[in-house]
Amino acid sequence: MTLIDGKATAATIKAEIAERVKEIVAAGNKRPHLAAILVGHDGGSETYVANKVKACEVCGFKSTLIRFEDTVSEDELLSKVRELNEDADVDGFIVQLPLPKQISEQKVIETIDYRKDVDGFHPINVGRMAIGLPCFISATPKGIIELLKRYEVPTSGKKCVVLGRSNIVGKPMAQLMMQKCYGDSTVTVCHSHSATLKQECREADIIIAAIGRPDFVTADMVKEGACVIDVGTTRVPDNTKKKGFRLNGDVKFDEVAPKCSFITPVPGGVGPMTICMLMQNTLLAGEKAIYK
Ligand code: NAP
Repeated sequence: MTLIDGKATAATIKAEIAERVKEIVAAGNKRPHLAAILVGHDGGSETYVANKVKACEVCGFKSTLIRFEDTVSEDELLSKVRELNEDADVDGFIVQLPLPKQISEQKVIETIDYRKDVDGFHPINVGRMAIGLPCFISATPKGIIELLKRYEVPTSGKKCVVLGRSNIVGKPMAQLMMQKCYGDSTVTVCHSHSATLKQECREADIIIAAIGRPDFVTADMVKEGACVIDVGTTRVPDNTKKKGFRLNGDVKFDEVAPKCSFITPVPGGVGPMTICMLMQNTLLAGEKAIYK
């Protein structure tokens, strides 16, 4: 069994990005600039955004954090988005989700200029990804593809089961695993109404679990020699931890790992790759490598 080390892989990629940024700056070009909008004070969102700002420093990017209280109106937020669309110094930006209920997330996503949409959530990027055109690919599925590639996990012609069909993980993951230039796999997507979920999993060469149900995938659902990618990160109360909780994956790691050819841990698997891929998208935006 090979443990897929997302933390180490992410560190390697961030070092590669930092090298590239040095070359860009040495050639007299502008340092890539990522802006992030954070609304409110949700603990998880605060942590994610702080980690993104930290990653920008490691990569040598300029970063700007724009904060709003959770009482901000939709109009106010949309006008900031439009301002960032027009700001020539900002190469890419994100609006940290979730947003308060008075604001339509979809409206915000669609207001972002797709050429600066480094989260890859804009329908133009999603659509371009679906037909295999150059675009910003959302960070979590992109990070998983990168892990599979760097660990040389065989995917072509294999049976891949994706658990979960969210817009940010399950759906794009399934698209990428299906496409010839990425996974080239035979893909099945399961969700909360899938009648044959366990059976599908038992036949899978690759299982990608993204449902947010701690320890859902058990040993009896996994074929001997399968590759298991655990996207789940549910906060589970844990008094032995300083913060009072631990991050729990969707896979019952201890019993599943011995059956696997490859497996990702939680934490330290998919999570670190997500921020790292946001950095890679920012580099692409800075270099105008996808859209001029
Ligand atoms: P989401 O929007 O809540 O979607 C969950 C999906 O799982 C839905 O499609 C749902 O089915 C399905 N599902 C829920 N319970 C199920 C069950 N018992 N059996 C089968 N399918 C079930 O979640 P998400 O945003 O995709 O995130 C999924 C997990 O990944 C969460 O733990 C999240 O924290 C984590 N995550 C991690 C990262 C990272 O960087 N590591 C990034 C993003 C998300 P229906 O469609 O039928 O409701």
